[in-house]
Amino acid sequence: MVVAEQIDAIRAPYEEALAEGRVSYQRCADCANAWLPPRGACPACLGEAWYWQRAKGSARLISWVVYHRAYDPSLEDRVPYPVLLIELSEGPRLIAGLEAGEDLASLRIEAELELRVDAEHRRVLARTTESNTEGEALPKEEEN
Ligand SMILES: [Zn+2]
Repeated sequence: MVVAEQIDAIRAPYEEALAEGRVSYQRCADCANAWLPPRGACPACLGEAWYWQRAKGSARLISWVVYHRAYDPSLEDRVPYPVLLIELSEGPRLIAGLEAGEDLASLRIEAELELRVDAEHRRVLARTTESNTEGEALPKEEEN
C-alpha cells in the first residue's frame, strides 16, 4: 500500500536512530515546531521543510498505564509493567517503558526522567531522576 510505504519511509530515520541508541525527533524549518511521531508535514503550520534532531535525553512524565498482560513476549517477565507517555525537554511526546528496577509506586505526574534506548528492542526506557537522590530534597537557591 502506497500510504504505508510513505509512512515507513518517513519513520525510517527514527527507527535507525533507535537502533543506534539515540532518540530523535522532527523540527520544522519554517516555524521551529518539534514533534513526534514522525510525519511528512509540520502539525503546526503544515510546512514540509523539516529536519531530524537528536534528543538530549531528558523528559517529564505526562501519564502512564499499567499492562497486566505482556504486549510483547520479551516483556512477559516484567508483568505488571507501566507504559509511559513522556514529553521530551524539547517538546515532542512519545511512549516509553520504565527501566527495570524502577519502582512502579514511585511514578508521579511531572516526574523528571532520564532516557536510555534499548537498541536491541528499539524501545525508549525512562528512569526517574528522583530515584538517584535517595529521597533527599536538594536545597533551593535563594532568590534576591
Ligand atoms: Zn511548522
